[in-house]
Amino acid sequence: MNRTRVLVVGCAGQMGGTLVRALAGEDDLQLVGAVDVVSVGDDAGVVAGGEPAGVAVADGLAAAVDATSPDVGAVFTPPSEGMATVRALLTHRVAAVVGTTGFTEGDFEEMEALCRDHGTPALVASNFAIGAVLMMGFAAQAAPHFDQAEIIELHHERKADAPSGTALRTARAITEARPEGPPPAGPEGAPSRGLPQGRVRLHSIRLPGLVAHQEVLFGATGQTLTIRHDSLTRESFMPGVLLAIRRIRGLTGLTREIDSLL
Ligand code: NAD
Repeated sequence: MNRTRVLVVGCAGQMGGTLVRALAGEDDLQLVGAVDVVSVGDDAGVVAGGEPAGVAVADGLAAAVDATSPDVGAVFTPPSEGMATVRALLTHRVAAVVGTTGFTEGDFEEMEALCRDHGTPALVASNFAIGAVLMMGFAAQAAPHFDQAEIIELHHERKADAPSGTALRTARAITEARPEGPPPAGPEGAPSRGLPQGRVRLHSIRLPGLVAHQEVLFGATGQTLTIRHDSLTRESFMPGVLLAIRRIRGLTGLTREIDSLL
């Protein structure tokens, strides 16, 4: 069998490490490279808290790509490193599956151009959990039937960006599903990236003990509807990440979110 060769960037982090462990159980996928700025030289499987993978953590992405010839690069760096990592993968013609959050619309435009110029696909998903994708779909379905909506997103205290990519994406889906909807009553709108200001208010909670959670609350006269999704462990993201890794090379250009793969 021709196994898909995978390089994990941010392999010593929470998400990268969970992916390194997940790859060990997949016959058709092979971890060939692992990049991080910590634990350099150590075995990536051991760093991830699993069995030895026989792959040492490298600290230079370009050199790791040259040394390991990956088919797919999976990116779980902090937001500050996301664009540089995607740029490096696409210019080396390595298909990119990107879980890092915090990209701007300008970043997505640059990714589209990089995909086109280098003939290499990229997929960026703000949330790889299937339940979160369903939550966003249900929210869009409910949106035309309610006057107002607000979103509460709750994450662990180390999450660098706020509001979360999932919350922004949900707000956009709600807005698009009811473009004539009234703006919410209340003091301020959410900071937005291309979202009509103030349409859906977003609230961000950061606390130890949380992983990734979101409530979408709708209100109309005499009733409310709450849709809630909880990622209780990072394993919840892995079926979506592995699906994207398996399918990315059949895609062209930039794909946003995994909805179209389900
Ligand atoms: P983390 O801080 O645990 O891990 C990030 C890792 O990247 C660290 O090991 C860090 O040393 C490493 N790193 C930093 N700079 C680097 C560089 N230049 N090159 C290579 N590695 C570098 O963070 P995390 O909780 O694993 O989250 C990572 C990203 O994934 C965040 O943006 C987070 O919001 C996102 N995330 C996405 C999903 C999703 O479903 N899309 C789910 C959870 C988290």
